[in-house]
Amino acid sequence: MTIETTATRTPETPVVASRLLAAGADADFTRHLACFGALDVAAAAPRLLAELEASGLTGRGGAGFAAWRKLAATVKAGDSSPRARPVVIGNGAEGEPLSRKDETLMTNAPHLVIDGLLAAGAAVGAGELYLYASEPALSAIQGAVAERADAAGIRIVAAADTFLSGQASAVVNAIETGRPVPRDAVGRLSASGLRGRPTLLHNVETLAHIGLIARYGAAWFRAAGTTTDPGTRLVTVAGDVPQPQVLEVHGGARIDAVLAAAGAEPDRISAVLVGGYHGAWLTADRLGAALSAEALAPHGAHPGAGILLALDRTRCAVQATAEIIDYLAGQSARQCGPCLFGLPALAASWRELATGAAPADAPHRTWTLADAVDGRGACAHPDGTARLSRSATRAFAADIEQHRHGRCLRAAH
Ligand code: SF4
Repeated sequence: MTIETTATRTPETPVVASRLLAAGADADFTRHLACFGALDVAAAAPRLLAELEASGLTGRGGAGFAAWRKLAATVKAGDSSPRARPVVIGNGAEGEPLSRKDETLMTNAPHLVIDGLLAAGAAVGAGELYLYASEPALSAIQGAVAERADAAGIRIVAAADTFLSGQASAVVNAIETGRPVPRDAVGRLSASGLRGRPTLLHNVETLAHIGLIARYGAAWFRAAGTTTDPGTRLVTVAGDVPQPQVLEVHGGARIDAVLAAAGAEPDRISAVLVGGYHGAWLTADRLGAALSAEALAPHGAHPGAGILLALDRTRCAVQATAEIIDYLAGQSARQCGPCLFGLPALAASWRELATGAAPADAPHRTWTLADAVDGRGACAHPDGTARLSRSATRAFAADIEQHRHGRCLRAAH
């Protein structure tokens, strides 16, 4: 199996890449080694921080922080004493209902995730390593850990099937107390995470990239993607496409090109929700944007966990938004005011808009309610829901106006 090492992004570069999934489906340890070669963790650990900084790798779980910064903060906070020996957690919870990328990765390339976890653990001097995995990927991860002696110390914890189970403090809480809900403490996990110890928590895709960077280095990582969005990323393409699927794409790939690679007909797509349920809607005229933090920022969007939900032009965008916000309001941990009162009110307002029963000030009301919950919770759930609501109010203003008069623009198509 050859590994892509020299691609430089040009308009002619293929959208689809093959790095993380290069060993093929359900790769066992033998096939993994044949494809990627062995990783010398002890040799890689001392230079890992510098390689990550040079690589430009950002987290693939949603927030998109620079991977090296988290690692550096954990190193700084930790020492070898029992109370300050760091912990590393691989987060594969994937609570977002649309997302399948972490499940696909852990099922097909579990050894890359383990490599990244071992390398990161060695780099920070970790005393404990955890893999927090969703149910569909659990047996693949357990089987992979059992295949290799160097993974014997990894503890596997089953993730709850809830939207918030993958939120960083909820992961720590789940491992520590069995309750997969966010903590209301605001400190950084790198300083005080699991049982108060410095904790490095990375999404499993981030760890898999670390497993490759630890082998091949930063220059190799940057040989795919663009200068500002280096490497590759896994993308879940869902919604109105012939076959919902997970693709590995080059950094900087255009959204319309990713949709086309998934078999979608661009002319039939009216809008795409970028980044998942906490993401933002982009209408069809904006789908030439790259799926990168830099390119999406002017649109109020972010790649998030690499999710694209395509909406066919015959489907009602107002109804689709109302259903998602209803779901999000029901998924809160009900610990804070914005989730107890604000999100149900926001969901009710969107239901009114969808059914055509909304008063004239309903669009303004969704703005007011979004503003009222934004930044007021112990975690970012209200903020993400507010972001989605605002983007829908902006993107679908014409649809909303028609709904208020008992009509739906999509019914004409
Ligand atoms: S903001 Fe909402 S989801 Fe987050 S901790 Fe508070 S109640 Fe739970």
